[in-house]
Amino acid sequence: MNPEQKDTDCIFCKIVNGEVPTELLYQDEDVVVFRDINPLTPVHLLVVTRKHIPSLAHMSDEDTALVGKMTRVANQVAKEQGIADSGYRVTINSGADSGQIVPHLHMHLMGGRHLRWGH
Ligand code: 5GP
Ligand code: ZN
Repeated sequence: MNPEQKDTDCIFCKIVNGEVPTELLYQDEDVVVFRDINPLTPVHLLVVTRKHIPSLAHMSDEDTALVGKMTRVANQVAKEQGIADSGYRVTINSGADSGQIVPHLHMHLMGGRHLRWGH
C-alpha cells in the first residue's frame, strides 16, 4: 500500500479523520494525541501521525522531521500531564517481534508510576 494513502480499514486513520470519535488531548497538522484504550500505566497516551505510515520501518527520509515532532509533542504533553518531572517512557513498536498490533505509526507515552525495564 502507498503510505501516502489513508487505509480505510486502519483504526488510527479512522480516529485521525474523525470517523471514530475519540477525545484528542493534542492535535496539530501533523500529529494527534489520545488515550490508549487499554492503558498499561496511569498515563498511557498515543502520539499518532496523521499520515498513514505502516510502521517506523516504513518511514522515509521525508518523514524525518515528522518523527522528530512526535518526540517533541510527547515531551510537551508529558509536561501537560504532570509527568515530565517524575519521568516517562516513549516507545515505538515496529513489526512483529515488537508486538506492534496497529499498523499505523504511533508512539506510546507512558508514565505516572515507576516503570520496570521490559523484555
Ligand atoms: P502497538 O502494539 O501497535 O504499538 O499498540 C497499539 C495500541 O493501540 C495498543 O496499546 C492498544 O491498546 C491501542 N488501541 C488499539 N485500538 C485502539 C482504539 O480503537 N482506540 C484507542 N484509543 N487505542 C487503541
Ligand atoms: Zn492508518
